[in-house]
Amino acid sequence: MSPDVRSDLDAIPSYVPGASVPGAVKLASNETTAGPLPSVAAAIVEAAAGANRYPDITAGALVDRLAGFLDVPPANVTAGCGSVALCQQLVQAVCAPGDEVLYGWRSFEAYPIIARIAHAVPVPVPNRADGALDLDAIADAVTDRTRLIFVCTPNNPTGPAISRTEMSAFLDRIPERVTVALDEAYYEYVRSVDPVDGVAEAMARSNVVALRTFSKAYGLAGLRVGYLVGPVELVVPVAKMLVPFSVGSLAQAAGIACLDAGDELRARTDAVVAERTRVRDALIELGHAVPDSQANFVWLPLGDAASAFDAHCRENLVVVRCFAGDGVRVTIGDPDENDRFLNAARGFVTRT
Ligand SMILES: *Cc1c(COP(=O)(O)O)cnc(C)c1O
Repeated sequence: MSPDVRSDLDAIPSYVPGASVPGAVKLASNETTAGPLPSVAAAIVEAAAGANRYPDITAGALVDRLAGFLDVPPANVTAGCGSVALCQQLVQAVCAPGDEVLYGWRSFEAYPIIARIAHAVPVPVPNRADGALDLDAIADAVTDRTRLIFVCTPNNPTGPAISRTEMSAFLDRIPERVTVALDEAYYEYVRSVDPVDGVAEAMARSNVVALRTFSKAYGLAGLRVGYLVGPVELVVPVAKMLVPFSVGSLAQAAGIACLDAGDELRARTDAVVAERTRVRDALIELGHAVPDSQANFVWLPLGDAASAFDAHCRENLVVVRCFAGDGVRVTIGDPDENDRFLNAARGFVTRT
């Protein structure tokens, strides 16, 4: 006989990471191609010398630096082991078993997983035809059991961002007892005319938090550090759910060094944004209805052809992220990596 485990485990999907294929270009996980900035790498090396000690459990120096960077009080900020860990802490902090977690779908694949892990009920709301979140439908789906709404903007994997005007109208419709998490993992890549600033929304409203990360634009996916900004009444419960010491000392030091590096980051994101436009235009020319992406990836709504396209790219040594039956997400890499992808895309012939 084996030990008793949760009876609902089969209902919890496993997170599917982007694949790594030797010799192939990896455009599957929305990472940056370049390694950490030299100043950040130096800070990591320096922190490594103290790896025999436990990290600061509150990541106090990083939180203080973030507070200065964002111009908010430190009490409104908490750090986590990647923002995905903060998503999970948030569900644990606000949901009792059976409470509902709403989100647009398709969106970040971790939402239904972490909702179920925390014994909450995931409630996906279909996106609009253009790949954007349907905020009206999400607001309409709020029930007495709804405790939390994830709004991913720009939306992973489809790409569109919500405008500030749309966001304000949406937030006005949500009852204050329901927490809204603005997942801004790709915030640094947004170049739209009326952008949302999740931190400003979180500081202005009692039921809104913003989630950001060092994994994407800052290029620290392997170190695991993200942060949440919001009202103290939510920050304290979220921090309470932290797995002790899960934000390591190298991650904390690297996060601080990233913020100190300032403009170097912006130059990197500008290059990705330029490539995003080039890749999207080329794909549209090939006949793909690629949504307007404000992140470091593009979405090809291939439907039933998604798996064949994915296999074709892999034969051409380009690894993309396939959501079978739905579409393919392709990270924007360096120009030569993107060319390799576009060459593969040009060679794809749909067999009907
Ligand atoms: C990548 C990603 C995250 C979190 O990444 P971490 O590495 O855990 O910080 C969160 N939300 C979305 C939508 C993402 O794409």
